[in-house]
Amino acid sequence: MKPASFEYHDPTTLSEVTALLDRLGEDARVLAGGQSLVPLMNFRLARPAYLVDLNRVAELDFLSVEGGELRIGATTRQRVLERSEAVASGWPLLREATGFIGHVQIRNRGTVGGSLAHAFPSAELPVAMVTLDAAFVLQGEGGERTVAAEDFVLGTMTTVLEPGELLREVRVPAPAAGSGASFREVSRRYGDFALAGAAVLVTLDRDGVVTAARLTLTGPAPIRARAAEDAVLGQKPSEALFREAARRAVADIEQDSDMHATAEYRVRACEALARRALAEAAERAAASRAAG
Ligand SMILES: Cc1cc2nc3c(=O)[nH]c(=O)nc-3n(C[C@H](O)[C@H](O)[C@H](O)COP(=O)(O)OP(=O)(O)OC[C@H]3O[C@@H](n4cnc5c(N)ncnc54)[C@H](O)[C@@H]3O)c2cc1C
Repeated sequence: MKPASFEYHDPTTLSEVTALLDRLGEDARVLAGGQSLVPLMNFRLARPAYLVDLNRVAELDFLSVEGGELRIGATTRQRVLERSEAVASGWPLLREATGFIGHVQIRNRGTVGGSLAHAFPSAELPVAMVTLDAAFVLQGEGGERTVAAEDFVLGTMTTVLEPGELLREVRVPAPAAGSGASFREVSRRYGDFALAGAAVLVTLDRDGVVTAARLTLTGPAPIRARAAEDAVLGQKPSEALFREAARRAVADIEQDSDMHATAEYRVRACEALARRALAEAAERAAASRAAG
């Protein structure tokens, strides 16, 4: 299949991008890695009248650590995130999550901003960003605004982005000392989208007590499991604790059924993955405490 005809724009600065998006209105889409948008256009499931290509906008392509915070430009390739030593040492959850995205060819082209803005169910990066309490900087012609990762995705492939706005940058705070993280997922084959997944960040104090915990599950949109987080706070890690926390995590969540898995399967798989991710994150937190 070939896409419906469209007008192509190739700006080189962010201000040109926002001016174009403002002028072209709702029929314009930005093009990042093209790994999701181009197939959708080829199947004519998306028919944007205008494409605004971000690939020549150098100011959107960066990865840096400033004041202990990780800053990721929207068009940073997923593979850059995966291979960064700063990310591996400071934000290992991002590296682990990114390794589950498709195949290396996809990650070579696919961008961090594209994955977040596309908001496909079960996508790894939105779930990891909620767990890490990231902030997203959105830019339009009228200015910028910052939203918490948790508030960004509204539902399947739907975000708070307004027409004329793009995701410009992601800011990820550094996990506290004594933290450990884990990303677990299950898919039919290596490289397939996850049927279910869980991301965890826990912090232990010197006595081995959980002082902070975040757990997010895959779903139509990332699902923050607050009841499970509350269950582990102030406790010492144990198998029984994590079993109970995982049970609470899925107690009232909604999952979709499709040709790949039933909703019931997804709920049960999320429960098992949450338990394993909690245990693994706690082990890693304890190792980090012991080392530091
Ligand atoms: C075979 C295959 C397997 C895959 N497996 C996985 C997987 O397991 N997990 C996973 O998470 N993903 C998977 N993907 C999707 C992949 O991660 C895509 O790269 C990603 O979803 C979109 O990123 P992109 O840069 O390619 O965006 P594009 O395809 O260019 O754009 C996607 C959408 O986001 C919008 N957009 C892009 N950038 C911005 C921005 N900065 N601001 C606002 N809107 C923006 C576009 O307008 C478009 O609507 C897979 C893709 C393929 C082809």
